[in-house]
Amino acid sequence: MTTPDDDRHDVVIAGAGPAGGQCARDIAARGYDVVVLEAEQEDGFPGPSNKSTAGTFHSMMSAFQVPDTVVQNYTDNVVLESPNSFYNRDHAGAVLDFAAFKRWLVDAAREEGAEVRFGARVSKPILENGEIVGVRYNGDEEIYGDIVVDATGPSAPLAKELDVSNLHRETQAIGIDYEVEGIDLDHRGYADLTDSMMLRLDHDIAPGGYSWIFHTGGDTAKVGVCYIQNDRHREQAVDGMRIDDYMDRWLDDDPRFEDAYRPDDGNVLRGSAHIQMPGELHTDNFMAIGDTVPSIDPLWGEGIHKGMKSGRVAAVAADYCLAGSTPDTSAENIGVYDQLWHNEVAPNMHSRLMLTELLYLARNERYDTLMNDLRRADGDVLAGANKGGKLDMAKLLHLSDVPLVAKWLKGRLKDPSGRWNPMAGLR
Ligand SMILES: Cc1cc2nc3c(=O)[nH]c(=O)nc-3n(C[C@H](O)[C@H](O)[C@H](O)COP(=O)(O)OP(=O)(O)OC[C@H]3O[C@@H](n4cnc5c(N)ncnc54)[C@H](O)[C@@H]3O)c2cc1C
Repeated sequence: MTTPDDDRHDVVIAGAGPAGGQCARDIAARGYDVVVLEAEQEDGFPGPSNKSTAGTFHSMMSAFQVPDTVVQNYTDNVVLESPNSFYNRDHAGAVLDFAAFKRWLVDAAREEGAEVRFGARVSKPILENGEIVGVRYNGDEEIYGDIVVDATGPSAPLAKELDVSNLHRETQAIGIDYEVEGIDLDHRGYADLTDSMMLRLDHDIAPGGYSWIFHTGGDTAKVGVCYIQNDRHREQAVDGMRIDDYMDRWLDDDPRFEDAYRPDDGNVLRGSAHIQMPGELHTDNFMAIGDTVPSIDPLWGEGIHKGMKSGRVAAVAADYCLAGSTPDTSAENIGVYDQLWHNEVAPNMHSRLMLTELLYLARNERYDTLMNDLRRADGDVLAGANKGGKLDMAKLLHLSDVPLVAKWLKGRLKDPSGRWNPMAGLR
């Protein structure tokens, strides 16, 4: 049993990423006593968890008051590229200095009164009568909270032990991102990538995934590759090639990189996230947020904004449970978080997963046709499909896509779990 001398708080959060940092910031702003435990040391933070790049998230910048100081470049448009074609659309975005962004978020949470403990690696939940009441970290250290939040990304040590997380190995996407200088951003035959975020669908570069060039100013950009290691990937992949090899091959082969180089101090960011529908998001005294659940958008991998939104709705749920004279953190009460997550963090997740799955199933030639279709279509079709609008998705399908859709359906029907699983069609 816990005693009065225990290290006790209203809320304990594991992980100081976009989700955990924002959750702590909002909870502290409401006057609660909140502690964040972050595995990495403060000196040099973030190290391995520095893994992200950019997003089309102007609404995030204002909703969360993200300062210009953590933005490397504001972009004006998004370019979709296929092996032999491209489509260009005005759409504002921001390429972040993710390390500076994470440090800013920790400072912002501290300013609101949150305590952030670095060098505190969470290992498992402390249970009483089968319910989580605290966590163990750094071996034998203990901390207790009325509510505990797992915001550790895909590692999810608490959510897994509590059976809240259902992250599947076959839905894990891996990614790598380099800062590259000396890029020809307006090369003949390609779209002008000045002040753009470019996403490329091309199985020769990213088998079963996509790659990107995000302009950061001058002749520099963040260049990355990500894919899911499913059967689609194995079908397209070259034996023995790792993600670093795909990245190097792209840098060697694409004429835009002919004079490009990776600066000695250029960050190499890498990591993973799961592209799937979440299962449970909470249990008694407990919520899982950000990539632990996962909240990341399946289509283009935007996880920063989604993570922050999930942190925000978890803070609303914590307030709802703790505000009364008799706090009630039962699963039933804390379940308001699930409703908010499905309504506000990831509405249309099913249809966006479907679109993602169909995109990954398609062949390179189909990507070229898609670009032509997008150019011909009303500009709102992509925006509608991107939001998960089934009618707009249908407008982008051809009669010749019937075998593709049939393959996808077959895969779904075969899924032995009987649950919605975005990767079922890819097995
Ligand atoms: C290569 C790459 C590129 C990406 N590019 C983009 C992009 O351009 N735009 C975008 O929006 N998203 C991008 N993402 C996704 C985005 O980075 C994630 O979705 C987002 O960071 C998730 O935030 P989070 O807070 O849930 O988890 P994380 O960012 O994973 O943060 C988890 C935190 O928990 C800490 N931690 C882990 N284990 C423990 C433990 N046991 N105890 C205590 N602390 C722990 C970690 O050190 C970390 O600080 C990219 C991801 C990768 C891998």
